[in-house]
Amino acid sequence: MKIGILTSGGDAPGMNSVVRAVCRSALNKGMEVVGIMRGYNGLLNGDVINMDAMTVSGIIQRGGTCLYTARCNEFRNIEGVKKAKENCVKMGLDGIVVVGGDGSFRGAADLSAQGIPCIGIPGTIDNDISCTDYTIGYDTAMNTCVQMIDKICDTAASHDRCSVVEVMGRKAGYIAINVAVAVGAVACITLEKEYDLDEIAKKMIESKAHGKTHFIIVVSEGVGKTEYITKTIQDLTGVESRATVLGHVQRGGAPTLRDRVAATKLGYYAVELLEKGVGNRVCGFKQGEVYDVDIMEALSMKKPFEDELYDILYKTAF
Ligand code: ADP
Repeated sequence: MKIGILTSGGDAPGMNSVVRAVCRSALNKGMEVVGIMRGYNGLLNGDVINMDAMTVSGIIQRGGTCLYTARCNEFRNIEGVKKAKENCVKMGLDGIVVVGGDGSFRGAADLSAQGIPCIGIPGTIDNDISCTDYTIGYDTAMNTCVQMIDKICDTAASHDRCSVVEVMGRKAGYIAINVAVAVGAVACITLEKEYDLDEIAKKMIESKAHGKTHFIIVVSEGVGKTEYITKTIQDLTGVESRATVLGHVQRGGAPTLRDRVAATKLGYYAVELLEKGVGNRVCGFKQGEVYDVDIMEALSMKKPFEDELYDILYKTAF
């Protein structure tokens, strides 16, 4: 058998660990492996590399993706998908592992429907893929946030300030709520929950009366009002407030142990599915166990927010 691997959509730490796991698992089964460059673009223009054990040596700990990642508009229409299928047939590919998010999985479903079995592996720092409890890159990104905010906290404490820190998460506040708890933030503002700046300010004024001198507020990127929130909090509390947008630092860095192990489990499992000729599936984690699900079913699922953790934050942060 001969299989391909590609990384698509936004990059996430741990993608390299998946590439390594897929390559080594396939080689272990006697398969040939090719790396497809820059997402679906590589399939359309034949930009692929033959991989052996040494191609993926020393990458398990490297952030980013050695296969590069990109968006590919041509692949969004059926002509593009058919052209990709023809190229797969020419290359003798029996299946492809696609590491990415929901958009990448839609492409994988389209290509599977054309007869090339594809398996999706969730790779995104936001953890916003509904069919899985965990996505590759999430733990690394959150640990980066915590390290950065600990540093911001040192300077906020020295100046009696409030730091309002924007973390990533365009459509989901999972990073925000977990990071808020981990840094002892006084509040977490996300799209999933209504917020009241007057209430937050009241709480800060009470805490200040009890001796608290500095504050952290974590805001999820998708809220889109970090500067406004910062100014309003300053006006309402009289505490000098500064905004920090952590930005792309959250997407880089060496993957944590959790991301490397998760990547290796999912990569191994995906190859096992392809070996059986199975396609059109996403693999992920359900209650700690690796499992797989039909791509369309995966895309229709809904993921609950961490309401319990949100309550705990407000009951412990003052
Ligand atoms: P993510 O995978 O992180 O959600 P995107 O939504 O940008 O990122 O999707 C990545 C790539 O997947 C797109 O550039 C495109 O090549 C492919 N893709 C996205 N949506 C579709 C679709 N509906 N049909 C086919 N391919 C798609």
